[in-house]
Amino acid sequence: MGPMSQSHPHLLSPLAVGHLTLRNRLVMGSMHTGLEDRSKHLPELTAYFAERARGGTALLITGGYAPNVEGWLLPAGSMMASRRMADKHRGLTDSVHAEGAHILLQVLHAGRYGYQPFVRSASSTKSPISPFKARGLSSREVERTIGAWVRAAKLAKRAGYDGIEIMGSEGYLINQFLAERTNTRTDAWGGTASKRMRFPEEIVRRIRAEVGRDFLLQYRISLLDLVEGGQTWDETAELAQRLEAAGVDVFNTGIGWHEARIPTIVTSVPRAAFVDVTARLKETVGVPVTASNRINTPDVAEEILATGKADLVSMARPLLADAAFAAKVAEGRADEINLCIACNQACLDHTFANKRASCLVNPRAGRETDLVLSVSPVRKRVAVVGAGPAGLSCAEAAASRGLHVEVFEAESEIGGQFRYAMRVPGKEEFAGSLDYFRRRLEVLGVPVHLGRRATATDVEGFDHVVVATGVTPRVLDMPGIDHPMVMTYPELLTGAREVGRRVAVIGAGGIGVDVSEFLLAGGPGIAVDGREPHGHSTDVEAWKAHWGVVDPAVERAGLGTAVREEPAHEVHLLQRKTSSIGKGLGKTTGWVHRAELKMGGVRMHTGVSYQWIDDDGLHISTSEGNAMLVPVDSIVVCAGQESVRDLADELAGTGSGVGAGPRVHVIGGADVAAELDAKRAIKQGVELAATL
Ligand code: NAP
Ligand code: SF4
Repeated sequence: MGPMSQSHPHLLSPLAVGHLTLRNRLVMGSMHTGLEDRSKHLPELTAYFAERARGGTALLITGGYAPNVEGWLLPAGSMMASRRMADKHRGLTDSVHAEGAHILLQVLHAGRYGYQPFVRSASSTKSPISPFKARGLSSREVERTIGAWVRAAKLAKRAGYDGIEIMGSEGYLINQFLAERTNTRTDAWGGTASKRMRFPEEIVRRIRAEVGRDFLLQYRISLLDLVEGGQTWDETAELAQRLEAAGVDVFNTGIGWHEARIPTIVTSVPRAAFVDVTARLKETVGVPVTASNRINTPDVAEEILATGKADLVSMARPLLADAAFAAKVAEGRADEINLCIACNQACLDHTFANKRASCLVNPRAGRETDLVLSVSPVRKRVAVVGAGPAGLSCAEAAASRGLHVEVFEAESEIGGQFRYAMRVPGKEEFAGSLDYFRRRLEVLGVPVHLGRRATATDVEGFDHVVVATGVTPRVLDMPGIDHPMVMTYPELLTGAREVGRRVAVIGAGGIGVDVSEFLLAGGPGIAVDGREPHGHSTDVEAWKAHWGVVDPAVERAGLGTAVREEPAHEVHLLQRKTSSIGKGLGKTTGWVHRAELKMGGVRMHTGVSYQWIDDDGLHISTSEGNAMLVPVDSIVVCAGQESVRDLADELAGTGSGVGAGPRVHVIGGADVAAELDAKRAIKQGVELAATL
């Protein structure tokens, strides 16, 4: 153990939970990877969990497994309903145990969230997020469903799991029984709050009776439903006490039903935003409780544990980003943890698009068996030109394989497009990602030549040249484009240029939307050049007020009235397409951005064509062909980018790539600028590094 491990003593201390002793306080929360649905993927799922167990995590939780067909999330989705299924999991549980960790199977009945025709719920209702209307379960079917939970638990025990997590949050079947919103039954399972609680209570009681004491029962309890007709705090507290009496060993925190219109995990949610409700649960029950949601660094975890707000800390996405999270903390290398930036782009956006989950900052997540960074037998020399996400990830991965890597960057700082992203309020985490790369390159001894625009001469003598020179903002061709009111988005975001009160944003892609939010907030989300940060994404109380999240003891389900700040600018957001603005944004994050724009009063103009710019503002013609002036003081161009390929062209011109010259590889935005995104850039960087 290194000296820094002393700084996280609570996180690293063991804890007795039920019949188990966990080696530290880090729990890997449940996350559906897409590898659960087919048994042919079990070897890959095994490698994925084994790597996280090897990385020091104490307790792992699988993605959700339905107890029966009606509980499927997706057609023919993951299920634990037969001995044949259970026996196939043996290799997985054995591999995790061999690494000194414990593992729970999450049992999840989707209820009316199932995206399949057999959906059942407490009552006949339809959720706003599934096209299928659920039929209410008959009393006999309720009994059969409880029986299916018990069967799943017994099978999990047979499969070698140390216990199960009962999914009682996020709006799935158990919540649908608990809330008056979805339970209109008048039999023994509804009618009063107390009767609505009988469903999970019976599940726990009957499982405990069947599995004995040497099997961990973790219950993920919804502490804030964040939907109308959700539970009150008194109901939640009573439920927790009844569940504890019925046999629960440990509670995990769940926040918000999936249909809630309040973000709970996206990057603009402040770190550890919901830990106070976990602390309140801890006062209510005698068993350990686990905090979750937007906990992504060892320091945040340590603080939660040291202040006694929780006994354990659950992270799911951060362990996709870095499988060795706990081990690095223990070795005093916390500053080498690859930070989850809570972008959802490669994990939850994939899951919801029915694709395999991975991670934007760690493309190896979910691909442990095929994207392998093996130590290179030869110490080849690699020049990486450009220190944006593509170049940084390639350099880090190649150097970790033992190659001699040098990085050349024309700017005075590393980061490329991440340097702009981190200034957008709600995207501060991107700065942490750059800290990670900076530190890793330092540890790996990679020279980083800043302020050096590399030429073909600079890269002579290298075996490989990786051209990751990125992009430059597209310059538009329109009368008046050189008017002093016009600027590029980097000029705005870096503070090089100031805007007036009324601003037009040309281009409504990811960056146009980000820039609009920057303008609404009135500046960067992090302190830049000694200036105060703007926005509400690092201040929990301000963020709660912004979204109307209140004390659940005061308002049912924690749902209050949002208190909005006055927008700092009047913003007009324009695009030529006629589709609605923000349509191309991520599935799990786009709605949050669209809500921010709407609440900030951003005026959307679609189907426009740009005519000219003069002192009065931006002249356009509308989709109906009418001339219109958008009267603004400033215009920010966010019309996409073009590849920077000077070096690639120069190297191609010198005939490199054949004979004795270096092999040239072009990656990231320098390769393809259209639809440039960090996910593709980093994936390309790491995949290339694996082959050099
Ligand atoms: P983008 O998404 O490709 O959007 C460029 C915008 O510029 C489009 O709205 C396009 O709309 C407009 N445009 C393109 N050519 C134009 C021209 N010649 N004249 C006027 N307008 C033009 O690119 P971006 O916004 O620069 O973002 C780059 C990438 O960064 C994105 O693809 C995304 O992957 C990533 N990103 C993602 C997020 C996120 O939230 N997930 C946030 C920021 C960035 P019209 O053609 O309809 O006018
Ligand atoms: Fe975190 Fe983004 Fe990776 Fe998901 S894709 S684990 S949110 S960094």
